[in-house]
Amino acid sequence: MDLSSWELLLVNQTHPIGQYAPELVTVENNQQFDVRASDALAEFIAGARAEGLSVFLSSAYRGYDEQNYLYWRKVEQYGGDEAVAATIVLPPGTSEHQTGLCADITDMYYPTKDASLENTALFQWMNAHCAEYGFILRYPADKQDITGVMYEPWHFRYVGKEVAAFIQEQGLCLEEFVALYPSTEPTAADDAAG
Ligand SMILES: [Zn+2]
Repeated sequence: MDLSSWELLLVNQTHPIGQYAPELVTVENNQQFDVRASDALAEFIAGARAEGLSVFLSSAYRGYDEQNYLYWRKVEQYGGDEAVAATIVLPPGTSEHQTGLCADITDMYYPTKDASLENTALFQWMNAHCAEYGFILRYPADKQDITGVMYEPWHFRYVGKEVAAFIQEQGLCLEEFVALYPSTEPTAADDAAG
């Protein structure tokens, strides 16, 4: 398993990605997505629509600068308390939306981003079929202490079909999947072998 592959990029508060910026393409609702995964997103959404579901692509790519602005505005609101602000808006470089590989998907008639979204037919279909299109539910309810992010039944992340199927079958989150593999950092022995 090559964890350095672009679609397995792990981003969280302990794995910041700095000013990482993928090549983007504009998808529906004026959102942008990594050009390498945009076909998969289009197929995922088309699959749901074929079931008669009212898909709303609420948010996809958000750049470093936008996250930086949102974060520091929140810090200011909380009198300079970065720790409190970071529980509401992730610091720049630590939001998965900067990868261009995740999408917030809600129901057009139920756009509320809270746990109750899980009761919609839309979520139930997306959750059951996401892996067939290479996506995972990134922040499950039972993994909040590992991901560090609250349950988000709208946030789907592209990881490729093979990894998505494995993660779903094993009931993992991305942090747990990555931890299954030893570091892929080059070792001194690799260097010696040329
Ligand atoms: Zn999201």
